[in-house]
Amino acid sequence: MSKSIAIDGPAGAGKSTIAKKVAKSLGFIYVDTGAMYRAMALYMIKMGVDASDADKISATCTSADITIKHENGEQVVYLNGENVNGLIRTEEVGNMASASSVNGDVRRKLVELQQKMAKTTDVVMDGRDIGTVVLPDANLKVYLTASSRVRAERRYKELIAKGTECNIDDIEKDIIDRDYRDMHRENSPLKQAEDAVLLDSSDMTIDEVAEKILNLYQSKNS
Ligand code: C5P
Repeated sequence: MSKSIAIDGPAGAGKSTIAKKVAKSLGFIYVDTGAMYRAMALYMIKMGVDASDADKISATCTSADITIKHENGEQVVYLNGENVNGLIRTEEVGNMASASSVNGDVRRKLVELQQKMAKTTDVVMDGRDIGTVVLPDANLKVYLTASSRVRAERRYKELIAKGTECNIDDIEKDIIDRDYRDMHRENSPLKQAEDAVLLDSSDMTIDEVAEKILNLYQSKNS
């Protein structure tokens, strides 16, 4: 039986950085499910679909072929054969992903793909519904959060480092709006699974959080 760790939480809590570290330490594959929703969102943008047009989103998602490969230890997302890793990290795509991921057809398609991957491979998978929907039997479930201000500060620093002009209050507002949408949608809302461990990373370093998760995994599975 393959092993799995589910890490859920709001945008900017540090899930992907920490999940990558944990996966590396354990020799598991890291699966970033947000990237799949982002690839789907990119497709919607390319096809000119309006974020509020649920029927069009349902009809359009059937022709999006999203696949994940791991190349040199990195997850690469392909959208209809094209490597889209470099195109999915914009605010525009993130906002569209948050809007289009409320759609049940989009979710069914991507959840199936995620479950298939976890069946055959040891994974650390991060997202919003991993512990609650995708991997209900994960060997460890973590709900990772941090205050909206701390998350906005982290995002602000990343953008500034890339030379992108931005405003921290706008970023925080975007984060709060996105959290609200993710937590209040009908399909698979973001919430802590009953058997998930809550970790608040506001005052913890990345290494401290990763260490904590590794300890939790070892104590639960030894
Ligand atoms: O994690 P990331 O910010 O890349 O995810 C983009 C969006 O995709 C999230 O705001 C969320 O709406 C959606 N998502 C989801 N379920 C997941 C992962 C991401 O609904 N498992």
